[in-house]
Amino acid sequence: MPAQVEVKSVLNKTRRTDPWFLDDYTVNLYSGCAFNCLYCYIQGSKYGHHVAKTTTLKTNAIEVLSRQLRARAQKKQYGVIVLSSVTDPYMPVDRKYKMTRQALEVILENRFPVHIITKSDLIARDYDLLHAIDTQAIIPSHLSDRLDRGVIISYSFSTLDQHVAHIFEPGAPEPQRRLASLQKTLAEDFYAGISLMPLLPHISDTGDHLDFLFSTFREFQVCYVLPASLTLYGEQLEDNKHQVLSAVQQHFPQLHQKYLKFFSHNAQMPGYYRVALARKTRELCHINGLENCINTLQSNN
Ligand code: SF4
Repeated sequence: MPAQVEVKSVLNKTRRTDPWFLDDYTVNLYSGCAFNCLYCYIQGSKYGHHVAKTTTLKTNAIEVLSRQLRARAQKKQYGVIVLSSVTDPYMPVDRKYKMTRQALEVILENRFPVHIITKSDLIARDYDLLHAIDTQAIIPSHLSDRLDRGVIISYSFSTLDQHVAHIFEPGAPEPQRRLASLQKTLAEDFYAGISLMPLLPHISDTGDHLDFLFSTFREFQVCYVLPASLTLYGEQLEDNKHQVLSAVQQHFPQLHQKYLKFFSHNAQMPGYYRVALARKTRELCHINGLENCINTLQSNN
């Protein structure tokens, strides 16, 4: 049985809608994430004081969400709900507790659009509700020139290499399993794409690796790819910086000095690298006929 906690609020209004994720709201039904990706920003001190060390179920989350969404709907404050931003909505624990399914029922009732971000194939359980939300959600006016349907589904990858994934995403479903789920989701005619974050410098961002990633996504006919590089925070043992640097030292010792240099003064990769990566991934999107933003109107036309 997971740890349990009661919460006062579960619907978080974002300060601004991110142009990539289109998040007006975020909802996290659990605290902590069993997938335990080393690069995740919930590892350690950045958000760590607010994030449980083990997966914790927010016992009254559905009741609170229902109340908060009803209040927003009454004021016509519709917006895209990202499910989830600091945990995966389809962790194994959700098979039993079905918190995500219950949340989707409440979201459907109040006609809000959703953006699901996951690494899990458990999402197939909820296709019925997602189809209903897709057609019945009210699209917020500030997104009416970009969206014409109520569900966006992003599968999250940092690599397609099983060995690399095993090191950096030790608790998550394997990339091949994610791809199989993505294929099923696309066959259901959902608007689905890839959150390619983070690409790991010199590990999953090499020319060959990128070619393989983008050609695979083209083959699957995904609707978009959102690529970004690695960001590492903190100086404590539990911080994602220490976790990733230790894994690099152990499994890719030839890259350790490079990583130390990259992240010696900054949380982000150097500017020249980010510019080059953005250019390269834009080019790969173009070559492979993929969008590098979420835009259902453009894709459907
Ligand atoms: S699945 Fe997402 S939320 Fe969970 S640890 Fe990995 S990156 Fe973080």
